[in-house]
Amino acid sequence: MPRLVMKFGGTSVADLGRIRAAAGKVRREVERGYDVAVVVSAMAGQTNQLVEHVREAAAPPGSNGYGLYDAREYDAVVASGEQVTSGLMALVLQEMEVPARSWQGWQIPIRTTGAHGAARIEEIETEAMARKFDEGLHAVVSGFQGIGPDGRVSTLGRGGSDTSAVALAAALEAERCDIYTDVDGVYTTDPRIERRARKLERIAYEEMLELASMGAKVLQTRSVELAMRYKVRLQVLSSFEDLPGTLVCDEEEIVEQNVVSGVAYQRDEAKVTLLNVPDRPGVAAAIFGPLADAGVNVDMIVQNISADGMTDMTFSCPTDEVANARAALEGAQTDLRHGELVVDDEVAKVTVVGIGMRSHSGVAQKMFAALAAEGINIKVITTSEIKVSVLIDRKYMELAVQALHKAFGLTTA
Ligand code: ADP
Ligand code: ASP
Ligand code: MG
Repeated sequence: MPRLVMKFGGTSVADLGRIRAAAGKVRREVERGYDVAVVVSAMAGQTNQLVEHVREAAAPPGSNGYGLYDAREYDAVVASGEQVTSGLMALVLQEMEVPARSWQGWQIPIRTTGAHGAARIEEIETEAMARKFDEGLHAVVSGFQGIGPDGRVSTLGRGGSDTSAVALAAALEAERCDIYTDVDGVYTTDPRIERRARKLERIAYEEMLELASMGAKVLQTRSVELAMRYKVRLQVLSSFEDLPGTLVCDEEEIVEQNVVSGVAYQRDEAKVTLLNVPDRPGVAAAIFGPLADAGVNVDMIVQNISADGMTDMTFSCPTDEVANARAALEGAQTDLRHGELVVDDEVAKVTVVGIGMRSHSGVAQKMFAALAAEGINIKVITTSEIKVSVLIDRKYMELAVQALHKAFGLTTA
């Protein structure tokens, strides 16, 4: 029988009522003749709460801050949210007379790297699940989790259930991977920031990849990477309404194409500048080597003009990685002989994305003009073949998203 993967995010399984509604959608697909693998997230807010418990547990007594913690135990705790919802979904399906059982990552097994907290899926063994499909038993899989080479529970990074679903769809050779969420598709920008955002009928893998990696959290970046590599037909749909969603597909399958198809934002960015570093070969490597070793996700990088053999180096990273970055750079300081480290953690990144940029010039200029018209100062700029990103003051982030959305003609009439 053809197979289908259906993933339900946190809001879509937030309580038993929602789980029942989601199960109703599963039953409909089962009745259409599919063997279904349902992938579930933890109930809305649950993972955040579990992360908070870990941080509190690791805080030294009497301190106000958080301590360093064992990432393997972090995974043991945060993976538990999905265990609850997979069991509940299986129970509700059974009650609807859809034969189903739950699967934890280790039971399938979904084998991952050992990078606890940010593991990558390496292999999914589908034989056991396929045998159960043959017995008429549908699968409910805990998203977000797998088993590391150390035999311990691992998790795939925040939003990782999307990646569980796509990887499973590829391994099961499923006809489609449907991502049910609290919006009814991929929009030209986050509809929570711009209510005139337009739902896209289709979006190319490459554009979705850029939007996701630049902050559009509707799909985890890695899930889009996998869908693109394994040609998984990926759909984003509403779990609340029966509406056509968005298909993520090959560029060739898209007829109408705007130059810019979407605007993404990342709210919690920081701009870090190292003042007075020597301007000579090997210095960038000496700075970014320790940052990479410390696992800091460096994004934009700018080196200033040199004066008297010295220069300034600026980069951006997520705000919650600044402490790590500072520690890594202070450890390397004697080599670098740099002066001060200046951190601006009140910035945000806004990005316009579109494959049409490959053949059209003037996108960056139009973006800068639209920001200037709102009086928004640009702190750092980076470009790639299909995107332009800017770092701006966080307080102007919403305004910038709305202005760019309008400037590129994305707003609904
Ligand atoms: P889930 O819990 O179902 O995984 P997420 O909260 O991770 O859901 O992702 C869905 C959210 O992504 C939406 O509620 C929306 O606010 C946000 N979002 C950001 N950018 C976009 C976009 N371009 N299109 C649709 N949703 C977006
Ligand atoms: N529950 C996990 C998270 O909140 C995984 C997911 O929802 O995709 O990050
Ligand atoms: Mg998500």
